[in-house]
Amino acid sequence: MKSFLELGVSAPICQAITDLGYEQPMPVQEAVIPYLLGEAIDLIALAQTGTGKTAAFGLPLLQNISLMPQGEQSKPQALVLCPTRELCLQIADDLTSYSKYLPQVRILPVYGGSSIEAQIRALKRGVEVIVATPGRLIDLMERGAASLSSVHTVVLDEADEMLNMGFSESLQTILSEVPEERHLLLFSATMPKEIARIASSYMKNPKEITVGNKNAGNANIKHTYYMVAARHKYLALKRIADFYPNIYGIVFCRTRKETQEIADQLIQDGYNADSLHGELSQAQRDYVMQKFRIRNLQILVATDVAARGLDVDDLTHVIHYGLPDDVESYTHRSGRTARAGKTGLSIAICHSRERGRLKDIERIVGSKIERVRIPSGSAICEKQLYNLADKIERVELTEDATLESFLPGIVRKLDWIEKDELIRRLMLLEFRRLLDYYESVEEIEEADEKGRLHGEAKAKRDKRNAMAEEGMTRLFINFGKFDRMYPNKLIELINKCVPGRVRIGKIDLMPRFSFFEVDEAEAADVVASMNRFEVEGRRISVEYAEEAQIGDFNTKKAKAREKKSSSRRFDDQPSGWERKPQARERRSREGDARERNRRGQSAYIPSKRRER
Ligand code: AMP
Repeated sequence: MKSFLELGVSAPICQAITDLGYEQPMPVQEAVIPYLLGEAIDLIALAQTGTGKTAAFGLPLLQNISLMPQGEQSKPQALVLCPTRELCLQIADDLTSYSKYLPQVRILPVYGGSSIEAQIRALKRGVEVIVATPGRLIDLMERGAASLSSVHTVVLDEADEMLNMGFSESLQTILSEVPEERHLLLFSATMPKEIARIASSYMKNPKEITVGNKNAGNANIKHTYYMVAARHKYLALKRIADFYPNIYGIVFCRTRKETQEIADQLIQDGYNADSLHGELSQAQRDYVMQKFRIRNLQILVATDVAARGLDVDDLTHVIHYGLPDDVESYTHRSGRTARAGKTGLSIAICHSRERGRLKDIERIVGSKIERVRIPSGSAICEKQLYNLADKIERVELTEDATLESFLPGIVRKLDWIEKDELIRRLMLLEFRRLLDYYESVEEIEEADEKGRLHGEAKAKRDKRNAMAEEGMTRLFINFGKFDRMYPNKLIELINKCVPGRVRIGKIDLMPRFSFFEVDEAEAADVVASMNRFEVEGRRISVEYAEEAQIGDFNTKKAKAREKKSSSRRFDDQPSGWERKPQARERRSREGDARERNRRGQSAYIPSKRRER
């Protein structure tokens, strides 16, 4: 492997990257730098996030500008476009570090969500490199503040993401303002058709460089998946958090709503988690990201878009709470772990209907996604107990004046307890709730590769389907005739709560609750979706009928349920139904999470656990 100097990188830049601790070029840098330091060419580099792309284009770009005659430099010479504000800041920071010994090169990040006036003033003073998100740059161009007439190098970083985010037109507008003689460098993790189209319209004989397999994932990522019933997805997620007490990871959800709900549930269940999505204000997002960056937060629940540009190098886990719609998002999500030569684990929590997509993803990442079993309760308890034992072993025994002064008294107080018993007490103190929970909790239903249930899970499903027609599943709902819940009302409600068209079968209305049948394949979605809604401030509760004692309406449980169920009337107006409000008291819970972090505890917080 060649050194940076041997690749042709100039002494002041070599000095700056040595200061950063870069010893040798990374593969993408070794492949790209010589081309960019030679004749001006167009280039497409396919490389994953976290492979050292910024230095690959940044070092030659800065070096070329630093060698230009003085005077030509006050107008922007180079433009780096990227999809998000966070990535923009990250790239600008990196370029600033690389140009530490090149005082003549000034770098300016321009992005939406911050003062445009300050950016206009900085542009007036003169900059050599603009790092921009497309929308804000166009804004500045329209105000006449940013001129691209001297730009000779344009870099499109994370080009596939920019296209995914709908920046295609903006890119065309920007590229049409750059002189013809410029050269264009395109960095992308994947090569969708749209990128190929940009390449053919805007590039001249581009050199194509692929680091690793085209579209392939990082070899240091281990790809695994769990297959569970849809209603057990959250429980599976909790088990992951419990099984990896030192987890530092992102849970990717598909929608903002789901992101917020999962984060709320995790916080409520005592995990050190928070959410990141587009409905939060910029200030809230900055706050969460900063908490996560400094590891004050262990589990970040995020949408794909919001997590973009969050530059965190040492994630232990990426969890897919369901697979993304497009396979490329899977690569991007997973690419957030195993960065800079480290290893990482990608875990997809899927249900049997996602098998087809798993196969597509396997093709793209170029390796098998291994099915793994959900950790059993006893394996989780063992992991947690040993984790604490490990921590105790590793405590640094530094002198602490306050502790020393109280220690003799405490030792005397506990003197009567044998060592074994002392350890037992300590473990119970920390983990009693966890141990109790996993002793009593039912195991999560896991389906086989064809989506079939086995053993206990199969017996349960057979039982609950026994009363229903072939291919249908019987469900319970806590609204009945007294709530004016008639068949047409119930059908309307189901269709409003559950996206898509649900096949509905027999409906049995009782005074205060009802049973209805839906297609077996849709039952899990119906249960999961309907429980998120409420009617006139009263939560909808839908369960598998077996859990509500099929056919035995006179059991104590059913009677108790009936008693509990208030007889408020179901509103005739369809507007009566609405999503239940998000969990309140987020602030105080965040305060708790901060406190736990201060104490250096794991994601699982024993004393706060509440099982659902
Ligand atoms: P990037 O793909 O540009 O986001 O880089 C990923 C990470 O690798 C960043 O933290 C860089 O600072 C780091 N990095 C880039 N090049 C090198 C290098 N040659 N040696 C060590 N670390 C590097």
